[in-house]
Amino acid sequence: MDKESAETKQVVIIGGGPAGYTAALYAARANLSPVVLTGSTIGGQLSLTSEIENFPGFPESLGGMDLMDRMREQAERFGAVMKYEEVVSVDFEPGAHRIRTDRSEYTAKTAVISTGSSPRLLNVPGEDTFFGRGVSTCATCDGAFYRDRKVAVVGGGDSAMEEGLFLTRFASQVWIIHRRNELRASRIMQERALEHPKIAFQWGSVVDEVLGDATAGVTGVRVRELETDRVRVLDAEGLFIAIGHTPNTGLFRDKLDLDEQGYILTDRRQRTSVPGVFAGGDVQDHVYRQAITAAGTGCAAAMEAEKYIAGNGG
Ligand code: NAP
Repeated sequence: MDKESAETKQVVIIGGGPAGYTAALYAARANLSPVVLTGSTIGGQLSLTSEIENFPGFPESLGGMDLMDRMREQAERFGAVMKYEEVVSVDFEPGAHRIRTDRSEYTAKTAVISTGSSPRLLNVPGEDTFFGRGVSTCATCDGAFYRDRKVAVVGGGDSAMEEGLFLTRFASQVWIIHRRNELRASRIMQERALEHPKIAFQWGSVVDEVLGDATAGVTGVRVRELETDRVRVLDAEGLFIAIGHTPNTGLFRDKLDLDEQGYILTDRRQRTSVPGVFAGGDVQDHVYRQAITAAGTGCAAAMEAEKYIAGNGG
């Protein structure tokens, strides 16, 4: 273990998305020399988002990666240290939390967890086989492969509308497959998708199977209308799954109190069930899940960590 890792840290932040970087900014400005263990998805899910139109202060919109780079640079400017290490296990002991990574081990007075969430999958035949070869959870990453080709998106929320609209830049046709007859997405996103000439909706329908072959990848999507059981094969060459997320809390099972969906339970001050361990962002929020709310709870978590270290926190 290197010398730096052997010292007890004031604050170790697990996860480098908007919550983690904002926690790092506030902890650094409070002179707590935070270490951020970013893992491999640097910048979190936001870095995979094409365009952010609703982060206050950026009326002209900006790219997700750009926003995350700016947040990271701002935290580093005040002394936050980024470590691109993956956490493999944690042992939370009030006063000396131990966090092991693939390369090192850290002891910290306080920890802020901001590990976010990951896209949910359908669990249908073909999904696994063709993942990365036509099946994707990220239009920003893979959309450009589908120039003048047909694609399908599953889901009825904002993410599905966003993915579908983004894909219209490349694809000749975009189907949005939704299990109900009514969308969950916000009004503005619904309107944009419903009005788009390249987008067609498959209402009240589910994906039964992803079809394809070893050389071509995905060649079609078998869709079933729930009310009639009628089956149709869409000749889509790409399937983008946008049906929500599950929290990245595998490391914290049996270590912290989680809700029935696996999200970390926090109180109104971002405190978890273990003193000195705080959480912010999507890992503890399945309601709002916005960059701005993640940044806000990350900020609160760092401020609470500061109070805890100073002996004023619960
Ligand atoms: P979401 O709002 O939870 O929507 C998930 C969608 O997937 C729902 O329509 C749901 O159907 C469907 N679904 C879930 N499980 C399914 C399954 N097994 N098979 C088929 N369909 C399934 O998730 P989200 O769209 O990722 O959005 C999450 C949050 O992020 C929301 O608060 C959203 O507003 C926010 N967000 C905002 C923006 C933006 O502002 N531009 C962009 C992206 C996300 P039902 O409707 O039937 O439940």
